[in-house]
Amino acid sequence: MKNFRIACLPGDGIGLEVMSAAQDVLQTAAEIHGGVVFDFTNFPWGSDYYVENGLMMPEDGIRQLKEFDTVFLGAVGNPKLVPDHISLWGMLIKIRRELELSLNVRPARVLRGIDSPLHSPNDFNFIVVRENSEGEYSEAGGVIHNGPDEIAVQNGIFTRKATERAIRYAFKLAKKRGSKVTSATKSNGIVHSMPFWDRIFNEVAAEYPDVETRSVHIDALSAFLVTKPETFDVIVASNLFGDILTDLGGAIMGSIGIAPSANLNPEGKYPSMFEPVHGSAPDIAGQGKANPLGQVWTASMMLDHLGLPELGAAILEACEEVTGEGIKTPDIGGTSSTEEVTAAICSALRKKA
Ligand code: ATP
Ligand code: MG
Repeated sequence: MKNFRIACLPGDGIGLEVMSAAQDVLQTAAEIHGGVVFDFTNFPWGSDYYVENGLMMPEDGIRQLKEFDTVFLGAVGNPKLVPDHISLWGMLIKIRRELELSLNVRPARVLRGIDSPLHSPNDFNFIVVRENSEGEYSEAGGVIHNGPDEIAVQNGIFTRKATERAIRYAFKLAKKRGSKVTSATKSNGIVHSMPFWDRIFNEVAAEYPDVETRSVHIDALSAFLVTKPETFDVIVASNLFGDILTDLGGAIMGSIGIAPSANLNPEGKYPSMFEPVHGSAPDIAGQGKANPLGQVWTASMMLDHLGLPELGAAILEACEEVTGEGIKTPDIGGTSSTEEVTAAICSALRKKA
């Protein structure tokens, strides 16, 4: 029997509801597998914790998380209790930085029974690998000149190490998926960092002669994701470009409530963290309407990462069976509750056993 220790941070709002749903699905997956145990430890960190303790998570919280195989997060933020910048920096960004989660990976594809806002979308299925630690989101720069001719300078920092790490990961993923890598660039407008990015992309590409590659400017790439998303497989992008493309990917899938993501520590030095793309959705919290698919799909990515890809795939197939039958929450046009969707996914999984 293989035991996986999973640190669960349900967080705030619908985070609690979708975390409970995903844990039910994971327990059912463990039952049908028979050879694994998912050992969940729930940490009550987040906005309520802040109200009591003045911090989003304990001082030694990161040390505690490092003991686990993986971290599974719901959603953090309750603007009625804690200003957004405190909940973001006091927990999410802290975890991403201190566990050195330098890659953000987000798949986007059409699930059976869910309408994309695109007119007759073809069956797209791509995955964005975003460099998550540097690039355009650096603190270097400032307002360098005051007065009526004020000037602000923002430096992008691109290191070979982080750039190559993201690009290499994208190629490894492409080999697994058996297809191609597209690099998001803008070397015609951004004349230092993007040619550097292109150069490293071409170097790594040379090591993978059987993977098809292309570089596409970010503006055109954004348009292509709307007009022909089915032509993409793995897309690798810098921090800013990846941020924009991953939200676009979520949008064309039909609802933010279904989009999954992984924050990876690529060297495996610390645990990676898995969290859905959506936030705590205070507007629908506590009403039983939250779509659990984003958290459940995220759980499926987590199993892939833990070396259980068949079990992860079985979970996603169960989700598609359920959406295909029209058992859906209101955000994707259904009338079912979080619990009804979750129970249907569990029973679809049991049928596979
Ligand atoms: P954050 O800043 O944490 O990203 P946000 O307020 O920007 O949070 P969300 O919390 O994701 O964004 O909510 C955006 C909208 O999407 C809300 O109307 C919310 O109800 C809806 N939404 C988000 N997640 C879900 C979900 N799982 N199921 C149904 N609706 C959702
Ligand atoms: Mg937001």
